[in-house]
Amino acid sequence: MPRITLNRSHFFYNLDRIAQKTGSKEKIALVLKDNAYGHGLREMATLAQEYGITKAVVRLDTEAKEIEKYFEYILVLADIPQIASKKISYTINDINSIKKFAKDTKVELKVDTGMGRNGVHLFELDEAIALIKKQGLQLEAVFTHHSCADELNGNYELQKSSFEELKRRLPSTLRFHSCNSAALFREESFSDDMARVGIAAYGCLEMPKELASVDVKPVLSLYASKNSTRILHKHDRVGYGATFCSEKSCCVSNYDFGYGDGFLRSCSNHYETPEGIEIAGRISMDNSSFLCEEEELLIFKDASRVASFAKTISYEVLTSLKPHLKREIV
Ligand SMILES: *Cc1c(COP(=O)(O)O)cnc(C)c1O
Repeated sequence: MPRITLNRSHFFYNLDRIAQKTGSKEKIALVLKDNAYGHGLREMATLAQEYGITKAVVRLDTEAKEIEKYFEYILVLADIPQIASKKISYTINDINSIKKFAKDTKVELKVDTGMGRNGVHLFELDEAIALIKKQGLQLEAVFTHHSCADELNGNYELQKSSFEELKRRLPSTLRFHSCNSAALFREESFSDDMARVGIAAYGCLEMPKELASVDVKPVLSLYASKNSTRILHKHDRVGYGATFCSEKSCCVSNYDFGYGDGFLRSCSNHYETPEGIEIAGRISMDNSSFLCEEEELLIFKDASRVASFAKTISYEVLTSLKPHLKREIV
C-alpha cells in the first residue's frame, strides 16, 4: 500500500512562521479545502487544534460539518446551507445569491477587487450590504482575494489599495481579511483581522526572492511499496507504449502507486525521486516502475519539486492525492 506521512514538527514550524507574520495564532485561519490540500481533512484539523488554531476555511458545508468540533470558527467559501449554524460563516460570492440564504445565517461578503472571479463589484457594495440586512442575514466580515500576491506585476498593490479604502469606508464592527499565504509573507505590516493561509502551512509556498524570503518545510511525504522486481537486459523495454528502453542490463522494480492514486502522469519518463532514483517509462493507473530494488520507495517529500517535473504547481500535486491513501502523522 502506498502511504502518506504528515510531519507534525514541520507543520508546527510553519505555523510558528505564519503566526510571526499575523502577530498571533488567533489571526490564522487555516485553509483546509480539498481534503486539506490532499493532506487529509481530519488529520490536519486534529493537528491544527493541537497547535492552538481556532479558525478554518473550507469550500463546502459538508467539510465544515465534518471538522466543526475542532474549531471555533469556520468559513465556507462556496456553498449555501439549508440552515444557519453558530460556528459557520458562508461566503456571498455575488449579489444575486443573497436571497438564497436563510434568515440569521452568518455571512461574509466577498468583494472583487481585481481577481475577476467571485465577489460583488466595488460599485455594488452598498446595495449588497442593504440586501443582506433586508434578508435578515448576519454580516460578519468583508473580504477579498488576490490574483497576483506572488507576482511582481503591480496588480497586488492595486487590489490592496482598493481593499484598504473599503476598510476605511465600512463600519469597524465588521472584520476584514484579504491575505492568502503569498500576500501574508509579502506584507511588511499585517493589519487585517485574520489571514487565510493554505500552502504556507503545508510548507510549499514559493515566492520570487524580490518579494519575500520564506522559511517553511514541506509537511507531506509519499511512499510506495514494491509489487515486483525484474532484471532488464540491454534494450529491454518497460511499461505502456514501451517508451523506456534500457541502455544496459539493470534492475527495475514496480511500485503500487500511479495516476489513479494521484501521481501526475506528466511525470512519466523523466521523474527522479529525492534519492536520485529514476522512473522507468510511463506512470500507469495503479503502478509505476523505478530503477531500483527498494521494498519501500520514497516517491517525494516536497511537492514543489514534483511540480517542477510535472510543469505545474505544488497545489495540483498535493490536491491530486486521493483520499483513499493511508495517512499517518509522524
Ligand atoms: C485557497 C484559498 C486561500 C489559500 O491560498 P494559499 O495560497 O494556499 O494560501 C485563501 N483564500 C481563498 C479565497 C482561497 O480560495
